[in-house]
Amino acid sequence: MKTPASTSAPVSYRIEVNDIHAHLFNVTLTIAQPLAVQRVSLPVWIPGSYLVREFAKNLQHLKAQQGRTLLNATQLDKCTLQIACNPSKPLVLRYQIYAHDNSVRTAWLDFKRGFFNGTSVCLKVESQEKSLHLLEVTEPAKTKGWSVATGLNVQKINKQGFGTYSAANYDELVDCPVELGEFWSGTFTACGVPHRFVVAGALPGFDGAKLLADTQKICEEEIRFWHGNKKPPFANYLFMLNAVDDGYGGLEHRNSTALICNRKDLPRLNELKVSEGYTTLRGLISHEYFHTWNVKRLRPAEFETYDYTQENYTKLLWFFEGFTSYYDDLLLRRSSLLDNPGYFKLLNKTINQVMQTPGRQVQSVAEASFDAWVKYYRQDENTPNTTVSYYTKGALVALCFDLTLRREGHTTLDEVMRALWLRCKAGPMREADFADVLQALGKRSFDAELKSWVHGKTELPLRTLLEQHGVTVHDDPAQLAQRLGLRVNETQGVVVKTVLSGGAAEKAGFAAGDEWLGIEALKQPDGWRMQRLDDLLLYAGTAKKVIALVSRDKRLIRLELAIPPPATTWRLAVKDAAKVDAWLAK
Ligand SMILES: [Zn+2]
Repeated sequence: MKTPASTSAPVSYRIEVNDIHAHLFNVTLTIAQPLAVQRVSLPVWIPGSYLVREFAKNLQHLKAQQGRTLLNATQLDKCTLQIACNPSKPLVLRYQIYAHDNSVRTAWLDFKRGFFNGTSVCLKVESQEKSLHLLEVTEPAKTKGWSVATGLNVQKINKQGFGTYSAANYDELVDCPVELGEFWSGTFTACGVPHRFVVAGALPGFDGAKLLADTQKICEEEIRFWHGNKKPPFANYLFMLNAVDDGYGGLEHRNSTALICNRKDLPRLNELKVSEGYTTLRGLISHEYFHTWNVKRLRPAEFETYDYTQENYTKLLWFFEGFTSYYDDLLLRRSSLLDNPGYFKLLNKTINQVMQTPGRQVQSVAEASFDAWVKYYRQDENTPNTTVSYYTKGALVALCFDLTLRREGHTTLDEVMRALWLRCKAGPMREADFADVLQALGKRSFDAELKSWVHGKTELPLRTLLEQHGVTVHDDPAQLAQRLGLRVNETQGVVVKTVLSGGAAEKAGFAAGDEWLGIEALKQPDGWRMQRLDDLLLYAGTAKKVIALVSRDKRLIRLELAIPPPATTWRLAVKDAAKVDAWLAK
């Protein structure tokens, strides 16, 4: 049977600014050849960010029309509408989208800037997902000097980029976010491929040339990592960075990425030193760009076709996020944007974060991947006790594989990644593919390592592997919070954020939300008010036990706290530079 799925008539969207102060876009969707009973739906999630966000909550005033005839649109569930219509006439849907979420995942509109992902504004037309999709962005009447930037294919646009773009199908349409506004824009070429970088919200002293030069280095390093001297699988690439007072994050797409960073972390003119914030930003750029291969093309088999209506589970985020996290900083080091001490400082931080998370003994990284929808993406005071980050521990799993493969001398993780890319034809991948490539290139089975590191909860052999590659591990005294098994906020007194499982604070009876007011040391006459957590040792002296005075729900309570012996934390240092370079420099 022939269905309209094979039709050549495109699905067309027109996006207009309705009101910048009300943060509303107008969307007009024209379905040239609708079904007699046409369903449309808005995604509940955006690929790359594993949380059900119900974008339909921001859709309003929907009207369905054929010519002048208004039609009924029946809501079937939280994200789906159904319209009975005449299939021989175009069906036009008009609606508004409220856009006031300043993140990379949804949509934004105010007097300075507009931004949207297709998942937030473009209803999916059932049975026509594979048709050509057109997106027209019209120039707002009341904003001067605005331009458009997007990774979509150009159909017909003006100098500022307003006009019509196209996507081969719905997946591509919603994988190409759109930036609007008076942004800074620069270009460069990496391995022959044109790249554009746009920045919204930068301050006047922003050093755009520096940002372009550094990003070019990162892109060339990563293209060469995957393809040597050959071209990458995209004809152009766009970075869209939103610089704000306080924000951090990124979302990867097939030929673009949307990033958000602190304005003060951008490189500044005449700045001699690379700031810590800018190092972090370069790591973010490196991370999202690496995803262009690792998760956007090579991707979990479960993501072969996205289901936009519900959670899409995979146990492989430790590979796609974790291995990307391993390579983001490693490739900064290889492109000389980090030196060895700079690299080890970042690796050190990752190791200590994992070792200070009791949840690593509760969930494996494979389990944490599967549960991302309800754990990693819904963090609360108990998250460190119940799960482990598949980003940080996943990066350490990559490190363990890389150092083990290098020690055994048959191959490296770099070669394994490239072999996977070829084996899976830059497409869906299963854990078995990884296991097979490891065995083929590493010349033995790595099933025991997969079982222990990926599916197990025991400690990774980090110390041994690092020492074999020229790194010394020093045990430094840990922060007092770690010693007590607490995470605290000290901006207004000492407020408990998290009580870590199995720690002294848990035994004493502390709870998240407690305000720690002061202490009394046993057998001492005075009690003391605490301003910071470190005051504890000042006032307790050599006492092994104190009474902690805590306010909970305005009730004052006394908790008997046994102060545990000092805890330690890792500090990495280069011992054998030749061995370290053999690993980091290639
Ligand atoms: Zn990522």
